[in-house]
Order: sequence, then C-alpha cells, then structure tokens
Amino acid sequence: MGKSSKDKRDAYYRLAKEQGWRARSAFKLLQLDEEFDLFQGVSRVVDLCAAPGSWSQVLSRVLIQGQRVGRAAWQDKRYNELLRLRQEGSLAKDYEVEAPPEAKPRKDVKIVAIDLQPMSPLDGITCLKADITHPSTIPLLLKALDPDYDRSSASIEASQPVDLVLSDGAPDVTGLHDLDIYVQSQLLWAALNLALCVLKPGGRFVAKIFRGKDVDLLYAQLKIVFESVTVAKPRSSRASSVEAFIVCTNFRPPKGFKASLDSPLGAGRKLQSSEQTLAARTQPSRTVRPDGITELDLGSDLEDESQPKQDIRWIAPFLACGDLSAFDADASHKLPDGHVSLDPVQPPTAPPYRRALEERRKMGGAYGKTKLGEGLE
Ligand code: SAM
Repeated sequence: MGKSSKDKRDAYYRLAKEQGWRARSAFKLLQLDEEFDLFQGVSRVVDLCAAPGSWSQVLSRVLIQGQRVGRAAWQDKRYNELLRLRQEGSLAKDYEVEAPPEAKPRKDVKIVAIDLQPMSPLDGITCLKADITHPSTIPLLLKALDPDYDRSSASIEASQPVDLVLSDGAPDVTGLHDLDIYVQSQLLWAALNLALCVLKPGGRFVAKIFRGKDVDLLYAQLKIVFESVTVAKPRSSRASSVEAFIVCTNFRPPKGFKASLDSPLGAGRKLQSSEQTLAARTQPSRTVRPDGITELDLGSDLEDESQPKQDIRWIAPFLACGDLSAFDADASHKLPDGHVSLDPVQPPTAPPYRRALEERRKMGGAYGKTKLGEGLE
C-alpha cells in the first residue's frame, strides 16, 4: 500500500501535509474554533497531550502569527460568498455585508505544550516532556507559565492564570472498548484537574472524550464548574469513532473551591435532582477516597426513593461542527489530477512503536525471512 492510497482514503491526512500541519488533528481544533470562537480574547494557553504538535501549530498561527485560519478563515469564506450573492442579485443591493474582523498577532502570548513524548520545537512555544497524570507536572507547568514561580513558597493562586486549556489526550488504543474508554477518562480527569489549577475565572476547557456509558455523569460534573458544556463532533473526526470533544466555557469555580493535585477531583458516582444541582453548584460536597482522589459528589443517590426521579440526568447539547462542505472523514476521495504524495510534515520524534518497527526490520519484514509466524516472539 503506497503513501498516496492513504491520501485517498483520508482527505484530512493529505490536506494536513499540503497545509504544513504536523497531524490531521489540526482540522479538529480548527473546526471547533469555527463553531465556538475558541480563541476570542485568548493569549495564555496550555496544550496538554500536544505531540506531535498540530494543535500547538494552530495556536501559534492564530495567536503569535495572526494568521487567518479556523474561525477567521470561515468568516472570510462566508463574507466572500455573501459578496458573490449580492453581486449576482440574490441579495438586496443595499444588503450590508459586514467585513470580518481583522486578525493580528496578539500581545503577551504564552503557550505551554505538554506530552509524554518529546516534541519537535515550535517558535514561541514552551514544550515540556511530562506525564499529565503525575502531580509533579503541576509545578513544572506553573514554572513554565511564570518563571518567577517559586515552588517552595508560591501558591497556585499566585501564578498567572490561563485563558484556555486544551487536551487531545489519547492512550495507546487497545481495541478493548471498555478499557480504552476507562483509560481515556483517566486522562480527561488528569487534564481537568490541571485545568482547574491554572484556569482563570471565565476561562475555557476543551478536551477529547470517548463517548461511553455514563458519559452524561461527566457532563453533569463539568457543569458544576463551567457555565456551558457542549459535546462537539468536528467533521474531521470520523463518524465511526466514539471520539468527541467537550467544549466548556465560562469557568466559574464554586465559592471556596480550591483546586489541588494532592486531592484531585475524580469521577463521583452520584446524580441528583434539579434543586440539588443548584445547591451543588454553589457547594458541591466532596468525599476523599482512601487513594486520595476527591469524588465530586453531585448529590443524592439514584436509588433514594424519596428523591424525584425526573430531571436527574443532565444531557449536554451535541453539536456537529465544521463547514458542511468540508471533507467527510469516513469517505475515500478521488485525488486531484497530477497529485503527488508528500511526506508527513513532522514524523513523531520517538514514537512508541519505533522498537517494534526496528525488531521487524531486523527480522527482514513483517513475518521475517522464515515461514509465516516462525521467528516471531
Ligand atoms: N493534539 C496533538 C496534535 O495535534 O498533534 C495530537 C495528540 S495525540 C492524539 C495524543 C497524545 O497524547 C500522544 O502524543 C500521547 O503521547 C499523549 N499522551 C497520552 N497519555 C499522556 C499522558 N499521561 N501525559 C501526557 N501526554 C499523554
């Protein structure tokens, strides 16, 4: 199977190489931005699980270089379309078509990218090689955000907060659905706990989720700390995959809430009635488990007969986003005439599968030089 057959099967893979993105994931963030205007008023961002770095590239192009990508590109397209319609007489002559706002490099931009894997450097972005599930990562992040941060004396509150936390974290998928969804949810909780430590009030949090059983419980828990929680599926994310993104806006921590990685929040098991939701929003109760995880308890147990059973689950609105004329991520596409397949922009620096490839090469191919299966461990 040649390179160009992958170009054909995955239009976003081909486009990523043509437009200089390190990974096709860039389009997911661009399409989320089209819908949610994620970068509006944003200059300080943390990009979790960032390697090989296409989301960081989007941040760099929008915030540092002031390029017209994502929402700005979508606005340009809409503007030109309206001008065309007006010119051909489909719109009233005096219909006012407003020019999209200017995009320019922003001031005081700070972008910190974190991944377990090393990431090739990007201008203006601080890259950290660290595990987002480990408590030692938070002082590293705080130091990267604020060089004056002093681990011994400073508190989290003293460090400069950020406007937006992104997380595209994904474990190495095993194919065992329940296990994959569980490990993914642990990454999400780690990302959320980091976000709670650094987000400023009004801040945004965008993270990858796998939509599994009981995902609505997670939405209800997020709703305690964010005013709005939406589940979004960008067009570049395959419809056949359980992947989606939660887009949480207007961070509003309940009174007295203190983020801490010593007793991080974890998934609580309970749901509650609507009046209790309101109460929990201002004062969520917490249970500290023996393993140190704090469960954010949303209220009374479903089994409690005295509680009303209606309105107890909160379903987040679901939005398919990205221009409808954009490529379908599940379809095979006809390649343009004269198409020449390009190399990836930035191959992974140290992919976890490198050893497997080396071993395979040593054995002379997929099954070695011997008969099928012989010589394999
Ligand atoms: N957003 C990235 C981009 O645009 O290039 C792609 C991210 S990739 C889908 C998922 C990343 O999650 C991998 O690079 C992986 O190393 C990282 N990851 C998984 N578990 C992690 C952890 N515990 N801490 C930090 N990064 C992790």
